[in-house]
Amino acid sequence: MRLVAYEPPRMLCVAALESVRWNLAPLYTGPEDERLEADLAQTVEDANAFSGRYHGRVGTLGAADLAGAIEELEAIRELLQKAETFAYLHFCTDTADPTRGALLQKVEERSAAVATELLFFQLEWAAVPDDRTNELLADDALSDWRHFLESARRFRPHLLSEPEEKVLAEKQPTGLSAWVRLFTQVTQTIEVPFEGKDMTLDVALSVLYDPDRDRRQRAGAAITEALQDGLPVRTYILNTILADKWVDDRLRSYPSWIASRNLGNEVEDSTVQALVDAVTSRYDLPARWYRLKAELLGIDELNEHDRYAPLLPDEREVGWDEGVATVLDAYRSFSPELASIAERFFDGYIDAPPVSGKQGGAFSHPAVPSAHPYILLNYTSRRTDVMTLAHELGHGVHQVLAGKLGLFNSSTPLTLAECASIFGEAVTFSRVLADESDPRGRLALLAGRLEGMFASIFRQIAMNRFEDLVHNARREEGELSAERFGEEWLRTQRAMFGDSVQMSDDYMMWWSYIPHFIHTPGYVYAYAFGNLLSLSLYARYEAEGPSFVPYYLELLSAGGSQPPNDLARRVGIDLTDPAFWSSGLEVIDEQVSEAETLAHATSTA
Ligand SMILES: [Zn+2]
Repeated sequence: MRLVAYEPPRMLCVAALESVRWNLAPLYTGPEDERLEADLAQTVEDANAFSGRYHGRVGTLGAADLAGAIEELEAIRELLQKAETFAYLHFCTDTADPTRGALLQKVEERSAAVATELLFFQLEWAAVPDDRTNELLADDALSDWRHFLESARRFRPHLLSEPEEKVLAEKQPTGLSAWVRLFTQVTQTIEVPFEGKDMTLDVALSVLYDPDRDRRQRAGAAITEALQDGLPVRTYILNTILADKWVDDRLRSYPSWIASRNLGNEVEDSTVQALVDAVTSRYDLPARWYRLKAELLGIDELNEHDRYAPLLPDEREVGWDEGVATVLDAYRSFSPELASIAERFFDGYIDAPPVSGKQGGAFSHPAVPSAHPYILLNYTSRRTDVMTLAHELGHGVHQVLAGKLGLFNSSTPLTLAECASIFGEAVTFSRVLADESDPRGRLALLAGRLEGMFASIFRQIAMNRFEDLVHNARREEGELSAERFGEEWLRTQRAMFGDSVQMSDDYMMWWSYIPHFIHTPGYVYAYAFGNLLSLSLYARYEAEGPSFVPYYLELLSAGGSQPPNDLARRVGIDLTDPAFWSSGLEVIDEQVSEAETLAHATSTA
């Protein structure tokens, strides 16, 4: 259903993909920019002054003074985050350049030192007795900071003493952060020799979308072989991450490996468990689809390299300019305001082409509220790349809207952070589908959409089951072998596909390039959470039409200024109701049925 009258897109000046590189000058003109060093020095000075004023006194502050202190703290954090953002983004476009790595390391070390100096604030605040904090939080002077202060106290039972926290914070750059960076370096420089060229992993993975089965199988085999190199190093890194998390959880008295992530996401363990149970109980949905896909492709037995095969052999490439126009057009049909925010990203805030040494995948980095967010892509002209652009722009507009609230109130927990991105995909998809009248074309589009949802809901929950197994196994059995990781990976992936896809033993090492297991243990279920939430939101939009739009914009603009449950309630959703998950899965069930009907119609036509 088309809800908003079509408006022709504003003429956008589009550039060749290779020249779509971001411009970091709004942050700093380059690594030599004197302001970078000056800002870092300023944060040290400000942090010392802040500590001199408030250390040992946080519990004695009145509401107005407390509000003033938070504003100062936010300003220091913002300056620090600006430097960190620059160093990180500069590193991302050439992770193999040692000077970029060195700059990132330097900024992280300086940042850790400042963070250490400021730690006392959160610790002292967490130590204030409840009756006193209730009194303070009722004061209007703190109305802007209520959720920030309340959520800072949720970690109260898990905080250590100040000297202990300081040691942990200071050891971070050479501890956990160092392992994450090593992982990034060893994965981003993986080269896959294929058809006479050395491809980046991302480019090689994109060949799995090729219509030619033989080409897909050869690419898959080449990736498997490339992943073999360095597997012992990546195995050791994951073991170290698992052990580090275990130690952390023990020191901080978390009852399970996932508990700290759930607390960080502001969701109950039981809510997450209900999500996992709901999705794993519907593994019949991907299996139903892949059985149909095998029929449609005329392949007896799909294997792991056939999952992304296009239904139409002639799926054409979507050039950068067309991809951009499609997404902006779709955003505009939903909300011209949202589209104009998205358009601004094309003024130097997107880095689009895949380049050797560049960070893989895609992300939208919020930068700092006083600057503009940045989007990194590895655009390879597939339809999925268009959806990725729609996805990252969803994050981007959310970050711009929420950024108006300032640093502390803008950042949303992961579960809601994935909501705007997936909504952006849904809007784009429905627009693209509406423009396609050929039933075969519609079926191909539906296939892409379903596979997107299987990847972002079911695959993520299957990955969460892998994480659950290996975190627990590391705790009970000690260091795990590459084979053991491989077995658990295969077991959890096979559970999702049932008999619809034959995952060969070669697939055993494909866990080893996935960055989420390393940089944010427990992250992946947030995708499933955000996706199912988005499906419900989009269903609401379809039912309510344009009157829904202002509520949606309000939800995004509220950033992280309230708990997720309260934010969701603004758009009429109760996250604590387990039935809510099933209703999102029903939407997928309907789409699988629609695909089955279309497949039948096209085969008999
Ligand atoms: Zn995302």
